[in-house]
Amino acid sequence: MFSEKVNRFRHSLAFRLTILYMGIFTVLIFAAFYVFYQATISRISARTDNEMEVEMKECSLILASKGTEAINEHINEEVKSSGIDDRFFRLVTTGGEEILSSDIGPWKELSINRNAVKNLTKNSPVFETIKLPTRKYKVRVIYGMVDSGMVLQIVHTLADDEQIFQDLRVLFSILIPVFIVLTSFGGWFMAKRSLSSVEQVTQTAMAIADGAMEKRVPLTGRGDEIDRLSGIFNNMLERIQSLIAEMKEVTDNIAHDLRSPITRIRGLAEVTLISEKNIEEYQSMAESTVEECDRLLSMINMMLEISETEAGVSTLSLSEVNVSDLIEEACDLYQPLAEEKNILIEINIPAQYQLTGDKGKLQRVLANLLDNAIKYTPPSGKIIVSSEEVDKKVMLSVYDTGIGISQDETSRIFERFYRADKSRSVPGAGLGLSLVQAIVRSHGGEIKVSSAPGAGSTFTVSLPLAAIS
Ligand code: ADP
Repeated sequence: MFSEKVNRFRHSLAFRLTILYMGIFTVLIFAAFYVFYQATISRISARTDNEMEVEMKECSLILASKGTEAINEHINEEVKSSGIDDRFFRLVTTGGEEILSSDIGPWKELSINRNAVKNLTKNSPVFETIKLPTRKYKVRVIYGMVDSGMVLQIVHTLADDEQIFQDLRVLFSILIPVFIVLTSFGGWFMAKRSLSSVEQVTQTAMAIADGAMEKRVPLTGRGDEIDRLSGIFNNMLERIQSLIAEMKEVTDNIAHDLRSPITRIRGLAEVTLISEKNIEEYQSMAESTVEECDRLLSMINMMLEISETEAGVSTLSLSEVNVSDLIEEACDLYQPLAEEKNILIEINIPAQYQLTGDKGKLQRVLANLLDNAIKYTPPSGKIIVSSEEVDKKVMLSVYDTGIGISQDETSRIFERFYRADKSRSVPGAGLGLSLVQAIVRSHGGEIKVSSAPGAGSTFTVSLPLAAIS
């Protein structure tokens, strides 16, 4: 149980973010310390070297102007003022023989670097840093040519410089861990704070998984990434919920609409069973049963086609489609039906338009619209099918002088199984317009209707002229 908790904690995003943050911070602070430390060392070392060079020049001047007696006096005074442990002067020949020196007491183990002395030139002194066995701190030595045949060796202890470096090292070795610990807490706090909204999304998702479909993630209003994610998550939930409601309605409708034909089929079969009939009557009952079954099948097929088209499962077989041909072919097909009802079909195509689409499916669109127009227009009416171009789109309109549709119903006629009150006397399943809308949308277009009861209807399909991907 405990190890499970530890494991979960170790794999949590907050923990991993904190570790990452701490790692980056540690590398950066070490790099910063290293750069600062090296810069301090080189500044302080350069200052010490500079002081020693100035001292060398001063001694050189004294020697040149006042002689060895004066230089001896000068170096002893210098050593007295800074302490015999801190400084040492020695005047030697270029062969390395000592001429004079300050108090040698604490500097007995210091030798003369004969190589450095031999290679000296007039204006370029030589520096070296050495560690003497009995001294805690290193010493800095400068060799300089002070007069012809004479070399001055000046020695400074680096105790002060090294003390500063050591203080810096101690200071950083305390500060760095403190900073790292503080940063870790800061990182943990920040990670927890920014992930708290993610936690809310998780909690909501869990509640929904448990059945609380109405739950939503509260928005902070900060407009950050998590807030946007929560917004999208909430929208997705809305969409799922409305889809579920829609599916429920469709299922209810399917159950309702399938019940009537099945009841009729059952009734026919029952009558056939219980009453003795002659062969003609049996044949007519069998015919009715086949008809009912066909209607049932075509309804089911249409429902499947709508679902597939809406879901994008059925692929379009695209080709160049001539709009005039499309209209003319559809009108030719429905001409006999229209003539039966004494309805006039008029075609109005001012120009030739080409579009890319699935010809078979587009034919179904026109066929359904024409079928409806004929169905819902009383005898001696008129239908006008026209096309025009508006904003790089082809507008296909089917106008009729039929019964029309009320304002409230126009928004619902594209729903599956919806049928307007006035049209219930006419046979139909309420699926045609759903299929039309699904096909039009799959072509990147849209369908609109303008109608009023008794004033006829106009269905307008707009399809892009450009190629459809
Ligand atoms: P169906 O025609 O089989 O009932 P549709 O989906 O094609 O199903 O149409 C849905 C409803 O829209 C119809 O029941 C009818 O009420 C209405 N409708 C469609 N076209 C027209 C039209 N041209 N004139 C009047 N009402 C129409």
